[in-house]
Amino acid sequence: MFSITKTYEKRLTKNDIEVINRNNVFEKIKNYKTENKERYIRYYEKNKSLNYEDVVTQVNIGLDYGFYNYIEKSDSKKDILILVNKYSKLNDNYIPKDLEEIDQQYFINGNKNRRMLRKEAKKAFERLSSDSIKNNTPVYGQSGYRSYNTQKLLYEKELKKKDKEIVDAETARPGHSEHQTGLTIDVSSTKSGNMLEFEKTKSFLWMQKNAYKYGFILRYPKGKENIHGYTYESWHYRYVGKKVARDMNDKHNNLTYDEYYYKFIEK
Ligand SMILES: [Zn+2]
Repeated sequence: MFSITKTYEKRLTKNDIEVINRNNVFEKIKNYKTENKERYIRYYEKNKSLNYEDVVTQVNIGLDYGFYNYIEKSDSKKDILILVNKYSKLNDNYIPKDLEEIDQQYFINGNKNRRMLRKEAKKAFERLSSDSIKNNTPVYGQSGYRSYNTQKLLYEKELKKKDKEIVDAETARPGHSEHQTGLTIDVSSTKSGNMLEFEKTKSFLWMQKNAYKYGFILRYPKGKENIHGYTYESWHYRYVGKKVARDMNDKHNNLTYDEYYYKFIEK
């Protein structure tokens, strides 16, 4: 398991805080928010190894409060760029308006009730899947859109089997699942479904090289668990459109979508 905030031995001295205040270091950072000023200073105090830019981004995400302790409403006006995470939540009645069923040839056998995505994402995924099959590195959909209630049942079912901390690292709470956006799909390299093994397949390597060309990003990358809050998922892809996916791939490979959103999309 991972921890949300690391505590460093060296604390900020009174003098350090005065220096921060005097130089207004955070105010010079893009996306600085006046209302968060105190939070930046307090967060930096606990995470002195971070640079000022990361402090601003991480506090804007809500990381200083910890998972599920600081919750805002997801901004659905952002359309395909909407952010849903442990700090941004969809309403329980939010259903994307343009859901469409993915063609069966691009989806695993069974799981029919999870075969939908929003129109644009569905088209992009079908192209991706089709090309991957031609390349002999097949990528099939395994689980697409899930409603608030489906997620609620799934989360509650997991809670009966595992400790809450483990469930939270693996399964989103209802309203916090990206699958509710209709822009997210779990994938598999076989028709019978093997998403938990996906990382070991050549289909995964193909996705690493090509997913962005179709507008998809790996949403929960390895090494960034403290930001996105999940154990690494090699099978979970989010549609953000070609422009953003390419920009993230080419220039911001080290950022999760949570960070990218607060740096480049929010305003
Ligand atoms: Zn998923």
